[in-house]
Amino acid sequence: MTKRYQLFINNEWVDPQSGEWFSSLDPFSGEAWAEVPLANENDVDQAVQAASAAMDGAWGKMSATDRSMLLHKLGALIEAHADELADVESRDNGKLKSEVTGQVRYTAKYFYYYAGLADKIQGSVIPIDKPKVFNYTRYEPVGVVGTITPWNSSLLLTAWKVAPALAAGNTIVAKPSEHTPVSLLVLADLFVKAGFPPGVFNVVTGFGKGCGEAIVTHPLVKVVAFTGGDEGGRKVNELAAKHLKRVTLELGGKSPNIVFDDADLTRAANGVITGIFSAGGQTCMAGSRLLVQESVHDEFVERLISITSKAKLGDPKLPDVQVGPVATKPQFDKVVSYVNVAKAEGATCAFGGNVRTGLGFGAGQFVEPTIFTDVRNDMRIAQEEVFGPVLSVLRFKDEDDALRIANDIRFGLAAGVWTKSLHRAMYMSERLKAGTVWINNYRSTSFTTPFGGYKDSGLGREGGVEAVKEFLEVKSVWVST
Ligand code: NAD
Repeated sequence: MTKRYQLFINNEWVDPQSGEWFSSLDPFSGEAWAEVPLANENDVDQAVQAASAAMDGAWGKMSATDRSMLLHKLGALIEAHADELADVESRDNGKLKSEVTGQVRYTAKYFYYYAGLADKIQGSVIPIDKPKVFNYTRYEPVGVVGTITPWNSSLLLTAWKVAPALAAGNTIVAKPSEHTPVSLLVLADLFVKAGFPPGVFNVVTGFGKGCGEAIVTHPLVKVVAFTGGDEGGRKVNELAAKHLKRVTLELGGKSPNIVFDDADLTRAANGVITGIFSAGGQTCMAGSRLLVQESVHDEFVERLISITSKAKLGDPKLPDVQVGPVATKPQFDKVVSYVNVAKAEGATCAFGGNVRTGLGFGAGQFVEPTIFTDVRNDMRIAQEEVFGPVLSVLRFKDEDDALRIANDIRFGLAAGVWTKSLHRAMYMSERLKAGTVWINNYRSTSFTTPFGGYKDSGLGREGGVEAVKEFLEVKSVWVST
């Protein structure tokens, strides 16, 4: 029995003006499990008008301390409903229930952190070189913020945008991915329970072309906070530029994980495996290019194969499963095509490379965790984002050789370095062209630190104090005495 959802606009549940719904599929069972409203530009306009009115209404007049208290309440409600939220998100994207539950709990912490920041956003008094005049700055909310997010971590990636934007006093029109629309609709209920005034948080569900582009081009939307692929990101940037609109773009990656011969190889092997195979490789920060120093290459690959061969594939709801299905059929086809590309390019498939279906796998589309060796950096499998459980292994000679290979790519989201040498760690972290560098760890993120990409991996930062700045205007006030 599928559940039929409605749009969430102005704290009310409403049918879409298109009169149409679309199905959300469970990637493991292959079944449509939810009917989701297909929002068109009229629905987007209604949501944006509500969000704009809230800026002029109770929300706009609320003190930052009161905003902070609401954000705290929301965080607590997310924690209390973590199981329910994780359940719907895991059904939508096929990720391990245990992994999503952890992510949802962490999502609550974003709201706590930004609740704490809300009433600490302050300007300064600026010295002026003239008598009887002084100047001060005020930070003000930009207005309505449109958030557009992908299917891999719907709640978490939305919180990265919504929590700082609300702390700064803005209002939100949120569009989740068409593949994972349900968890934001469940989250919307918690905004009502927490006591947010109408119009502060609105959810419209639909596709990039109709619904997403209507958000980006709406004149009352002042910032678009986008996470997704670089093709979608470029389109959003182009459309936003026509309206002189601010954007933050969190895009793709092909991040290098660099293992030196002086590293703790046991720790490094576990870090490399988590770096690439968590969430079935379907993460922007996946360490999908492994660079191993020549002298330990063969031994290290053996270690990786030994760990990977123990991974259990299956129903993401079961606690002993480590690898779930690929989230969507198009994504499955893409991953399989890259496995074939790698083979055709002459890379050696050292482990995996097969698809799994049938008994124990439901109707799911599984790709085995796959390790390619003999990869050269000019191969497509080394340069393009697969967004699946596929690791490309390359060899390097020394630090400068590793840097040359690591930086020779259009992406710059993240990088990992495994070494016991402090000098080496510092040398590498200064020269890697990436928004995040992990030394002897991988995939660490926190609400307190900025995250974002160099080069084609994006514009702007999420997380930490930096994220709030993306959603603020600064006003310079001159006072003569
Ligand atoms: P996608 O670009 O296809 O879709 C992302 C969102 O954008 C969806 O909601 C989609 O409906 C919308 N969209 C697409 N085209 C649009 C348009 N023209 N106008 C407005 N909205 C549009 O990405 P995806 O396949 O859902 O997600 C995978 C991608 O996301 C990967 O490339 C991955 O690296 C990236 N990602 C990046 C980060 C990060 O923080 N850097 C995090 C997670 C995922």
